Amino acid sequence: MKYINSFKLQFVGRSSNEGFSRSAVAAFLAQLDPTVEELSDIKTAVSEAVTNAIVHGYGNKLGIVYINAYVFANRKIAIDVKDKGKGIEDIQRAMTPLFTTSPESERSGLGFTVMEAFMDKLRVRSKTGKGTVVHMVKTLKAKE
Ligand code: ATP
Ligand code: MG
Repeated sequence: MKYINSFKLQFVGRSSNEGFSRSAVAAFLAQLDPTVEELSDIKTAVSEAVTNAIVHGYGNKLGIVYINAYVFANRKIAIDVKDKGKGIEDIQRAMTPLFTTSPESERSGLGFTVMEAFMDKLRVRSKTGKGTVVHMVKTLKAKE
């Protein structure tokens, strides 16, 4: 389906940019006049995906995180968060609630679970050594 609006953002994967990136997405989506709850859900999901790109995708190295956001007809939005980091070996296992490869650094393994709960659709594509794309879709409530 052809989008009617979009923006792209790329930034250095420093955790100090996490707040900036989720606020940028929120500012872009403000034109759709989402509810406070919708906006908060989307910001949380974006935050989880960006954190994963930084801490798991790039680990100790610094890399670029890419966000593409799209608006479609009927208030449907899509957000892609991409890294060119180490990739995920077993996507299904990674998406299992409570699965984490970093239990020592107080990770709870709930990032994907949160993204799934707060968005309508979540699809993860990844290739070991190449990177990961997290694709999230949500349809905002109709305005009366
Ligand atoms: P939490 O998000 O609760 O702090 P977590 O990040 O470990 O913990 P998830 O976000 O659900 O939990 O991710 C599960 C696992 O998937 C991670 O531990 C990591 O192994 C892998 N993973 C997630 N995103 C990426 C990514 N962008 N690149 C490489 N591995 C990833
Ligand atoms: Mg996570």
